[in-house]
Amino acid sequence: MSGPAEPSAKSLQRIRNFVERYWLKSGTSPHPNEEVTETVIHGLAKHLDDLGRPLCPCNFYPDKQAEVASSRRWICACDEMKQYKYCHCLLFVREDGNPITEYLPEEHEGRQAYGLIKDPTPNKGREATRSSRAAGESD
Ligand code: SF4
Repeated sequence: MSGPAEPSAKSLQRIRNFVERYWLKSGTSPHPNEEVTETVIHGLAKHLDDLGRPLCPCNFYPDKQAEVASSRRWICACDEMKQYKYCHCLLFVREDGNPITEYLPEEHEGRQAYGLIKDPTPNKGREATRSSRAAGESD
């Protein structure tokens, strides 16, 4: 039985597939507490059903439709993930369950909340910076 807040099986599967692929691609891991992961996956799938896009479920939006129409900033994987490898929903984390904060600006709330948490797989993820890094590399 599914209540009104339950996402469709189709959207859940789509999100699960994406999340599995993105753990590998970004070099991150599932949270050790499965409930954390499931809650975020359900939130993303519900947004996929309602809005047509997997809007991050861990923010407040005054108007979700307007948010989706005006920006892709919080479409998963969001800009913060692609740039800083930081997931404030704790969907894409280190094996110990901590979010990676190493690349965040020091004044960012994630850095303030968790301190400096190193990236165990620095050769993966941060795709928003990858082309500029590659262009700047001499070897
Ligand atoms: S914080 Fe970003 S990467 Fe994490 S679930 Fe939300 S949109 Fe996805």
